[in-house]
Amino acid sequence: MADKFSSSHKKDFTINLSEVIPYTIEFSKDAKEITLTKGVITGEISLDSLALELAQRLDIAYEDVFFKKNEKNDFLIIFTSEDFIDISIAESLILEMIAIELPYSLKNTDTHKVFTYITENLFGIPLIGSMYFGVIDRGTNLLQVRSLTGCPLNCPFCSVDEGPVTKTKHRDFIIDSDYLVSTFDHVVKEKELEKAEAHLDGQGEPMAYPYIVDLVQGLANNPNTAIISAQTNGWYLTEKLVDDLEDAGLSRINLSINSMELSNAKRLSGRGDFPLQKILDMAEYIANSKISLLLAPLWIPGINDSDIEEIVKFSKRINSKEKRFPTLGIQNYLIHHQGRNMKGVKSKTFKTFNEQLREFERKYDVSNLVLKQSMFESYKSNMLSNPLKVGEIISGRVVLPGRLNDEVFTVAKNRIIHVTGTEGLSIGTKIKARIIRNRHNIFFAKKV
Ligand code: SF4
Repeated sequence: MADKFSSSHKKDFTINLSEVIPYTIEFSKDAKEITLTKGVITGEISLDSLALELAQRLDIAYEDVFFKKNEKNDFLIIFTSEDFIDISIAESLILEMIAIELPYSLKNTDTHKVFTYITENLFGIPLIGSMYFGVIDRGTNLLQVRSLTGCPLNCPFCSVDEGPVTKTKHRDFIIDSDYLVSTFDHVVKEKELEKAEAHLDGQGEPMAYPYIVDLVQGLANNPNTAIISAQTNGWYLTEKLVDDLEDAGLSRINLSINSMELSNAKRLSGRGDFPLQKILDMAEYIANSKISLLLAPLWIPGINDSDIEEIVKFSKRINSKEKRFPTLGIQNYLIHHQGRNMKGVKSKTFKTFNEQLREFERKYDVSNLVLKQSMFESYKSNMLSNPLKVGEIISGRVVLPGRLNDEVFTVAKNRIIHVTGTEGLSIGTKIKARIIRNRHNIFFAKKV
């Protein structure tokens, strides 16, 4: 199919697909498929199906549809026909086909897991109720906005067992940015927030989201958004991305640097190719932009004690002009039963931890190491209405497989609900489940 030549007596009509869709397009080795890639999203389209569908819809012969690459490596679709072909109609048909086909083959290039792309129209899944994706309200002006799951790092202390080495997560989710923004707008309105903070975080790496700039822009368009902040491990940061996020309206980046020394940084990221110097350079670049920078190392007793002091000094050196937010958010290492923990490491009490931070404040003449909500312009607010009670029995259908082996999702009262005890159930199966946990509008149920 690839690189066939058109017959000379007919006229050629060409679409440069690389200019129409924002994906890198490559032929598969056997040239039977094309692989479309954007950031961590990758998926395949069968060229046979594409040619058949186009031939049928444009009323031309299957043999008159060709695919090839030009000298710029752009992907071309060529139709040969004696009759006129309206290229704009052909382009719309191709976009429609890709939109229908692609979601079924998506993979996350970080984790190599299936990626389920959730849009407003697909499955009719609400974006409130899950800990994995959507919008989470914990009763303040800060709303957590979760656009995708999956992470390129394998940190040995990961509290949510993310990354390529995960043993518990079998699937990733990615959410349409318009759908996330409309859910955020809805929650801001229902909570009557005048100064909302959109905080991009997640079970994974928020900067891996290929539409993060559009997302920030969309969140900034809400007149009641006062702050947009994002967590990151720095892996995907580039100067261009920081510039684009600055223009889009990002207020603060919380960057997790856990060591200033290469071998420890590699160990703590679980990646032998961890680009420490690049991430330190990016920290400096952010500190010199309009985006506030907060360095957020995890203090792991006995593992990175001296690193923490080096990070305090580094922050003081590169980020002294920051006035709006604290510049350091040192985290206390905690044991997480459902995550990964470092062998033999014990966590400190918060009393000891805070005493040590106060000592650093004196030693390095810095303030705000012991953090308070008010330092982040955060305040308590109405909770989003919570429509389901613990013990309540719900009935519905499986709308999505979950991330864990025995987990699926169902929907009730406009909330998405994790249901366990469901191994082997497929989409569409009717289920009944009892709500067993319900906190901050995040719902867990067990099949009955
Ligand atoms: S960067 Fe965060 S989400 Fe990713 S593996 Fe490390 S701790 Fe987990």
